[in-house]
Amino acid sequence: MSTISENLIHCVKTSIHPPKRLLYGPGPSQVYPRIYSAMAQPIVGHLDPYFFQVSQGVQKGLREVFGTANELTMPISATGSGGMEAAVSNFIEPGTKLALFVGGFFAERIGEMAKRHGAEIVRLEKPWGEAASDDEAAEFIRRERPQVVAFVQAETSTGVFQQSKALCTAAHEVDAIVIADCVTSLGAMPVDVDANGIDVAYSCTQKGLSSPPGLSPMTISPRAQERLRQRKQANRSWYFDLTLIQDYLSVSHRYHHTASATLFYALHESLAIIEEEGLVLRQQRHLRAHQRFVAGIERLGLTMHVAEGHRIWNLNTPRVPDGVNDAKVRAYLLEKHGIEIAGGFGPLAGKIFRIGIMGPLATDDGVDRFLAKFDEAMKESR
Ligand SMILES: *Cc1c(COP(=O)(O)O)cnc(C)c1O
Repeated sequence: MSTISENLIHCVKTSIHPPKRLLYGPGPSQVYPRIYSAMAQPIVGHLDPYFFQVSQGVQKGLREVFGTANELTMPISATGSGGMEAAVSNFIEPGTKLALFVGGFFAERIGEMAKRHGAEIVRLEKPWGEAASDDEAAEFIRRERPQVVAFVQAETSTGVFQQSKALCTAAHEVDAIVIADCVTSLGAMPVDVDANGIDVAYSCTQKGLSSPPGLSPMTISPRAQERLRQRKQANRSWYFDLTLIQDYLSVSHRYHHTASATLFYALHESLAIIEEEGLVLRQQRHLRAHQRFVAGIERLGLTMHVAEGHRIWNLNTPRVPDGVNDAKVRAYLLEKHGIEIAGGFGPLAGKIFRIGIMGPLATDDGVDRFLAKFDEAMKESR
């Protein structure tokens, strides 16, 4: 019989051989091979001039995909939830009034964080799968007169895309700043930070940008920066204090934390891939793949959970048909074909599939091959 320590030695002596997966879930999404090559390059120090050169390139590329001229645009060393916590902790102080649009799991997470930072929260709730209309949004904001508004642009738990121009206009009328969760939309759909009037947006690298997880791109408008300067107390979170991170990445280059050169290389490569294809062309490719997916899934007899016109392009949520066990379908796809998709959770557990068609998989072929395997899995799981 082997002892625990013998097992440990066995573990670390064996090199890893991850299975080859096709990532058709809500994220992480399939990574372009070029990005893995970039990640295999030697690291440099987090204060090396080369690191800041890469960081400058990343900041420039991020302005492009966010659709913004905001000077303060940079990746935070954290996943999407870290970007969320950075947005919440910098712009919410005890007693700050937050108007929160809720219609899914990730909006609830914003609320949970805001509560911990002492926000006074008012909510506009929609059923999971519906967006707030322009009129509802504007009326809610004019009635509540909050200091901060927060919404999820692409609610990955339901498949809803929330339009935000009217929402942002109403927020600015009452002098509120707007925080947008663009975690799933960035890189695959038009986020249009400046055109919409979004003040603070955060995202992640492993969804619409098709890079590995680990960084959270953020952008902050001049209005929001002014709000930061007016804070009465320093951010309770030292790690996510945007003024300190900005100082490290842009201004004095003074040490704040050891940023991962590897993850910056990956994001840089992912932004280079987007620039080469053209951002608009890439977004249109995602829209075409989405339309092809919807047509195909409807031919298989399934219906989409979200009404047309409110759907996220790169994350589809068809309903699970009666008599189908969604866990069995997912297990079959993973075991037989190495394909990952996800199910619903909360009120949508067992009711929807969550199928990401993003990055290198957002092609005619990527959709058709998926649908063929999915059809097979559905038949096997009845
Ligand atoms: C995935 C996701 C998050 C959380 O991101 P992590 O990288 O998992 O921390 C937040 N908001 C939305 C809308 C997401 O889809």
